[in-house]
Amino acid sequence: MNPGYLMLHPATDQPLPEIPPLLARLAETGLIGQAVPDTPHCFRAGADFLQRLTFLGCSPNLPLDGDQHPGEALCTIRLLGPFPSAVIISGENCRPPRCRACRHPLPEWRTYLGSANNGIRCPGCGRESGLRDLNWRQMGGTARLFIAISQVFPGEAVPTAGLMQTLQQEGGEWDYFYAQQPRLWQDGQEPGKL
Ligand SMILES: [Zn+2]
Repeated sequence: MNPGYLMLHPATDQPLPEIPPLLARLAETGLIGQAVPDTPHCFRAGADFLQRLTFLGCSPNLPLDGDQHPGEALCTIRLLGPFPSAVIISGENCRPPRCRACRHPLPEWRTYLGSANNGIRCPGCGRESGLRDLNWRQMGGTARLFIAISQVFPGEAVPTAGLMQTLQQEGGEWDYFYAQQPRLWQDGQEPGKL
């Protein structure tokens, strides 16, 4: 079973990076390797994959190689999007996001998906925030583009400064979070599995 995903995404919608040069840079710097057949924008780990992430705790044992992990689902790096407008990805059982002003949890966030202004009013302090502006506590994120790295347990690995620089080469800041059994929430639609 896949223990989870490390999800990387631009922190803002502008400027959204061009996809072909982004993938070329990720290949040159060794994060991504061979394309996975029949899955668009999905790749096996590249030669320097383990150097592009910092693993916390015990030594990493990610299933990168089919020879060493026969029959197991291998780690993949998959680009999701760009979506025409921002979508939310969060784990199936993620704890609710919090208000940034007063830390009040906002368990009703799903009911605000697709509402006209997407503003959610905090019952604690009354502040109105967009879904993007909530504190997702690294368990969800809002963007038009994501890079999903599978087989990563939440908190097991963080992107190196070098990987973040590679991602940010076209100007915008990037961010990351973790999702187990992720769901993709689009305006007015039932959530889809990744
Ligand atoms: Zn609040």
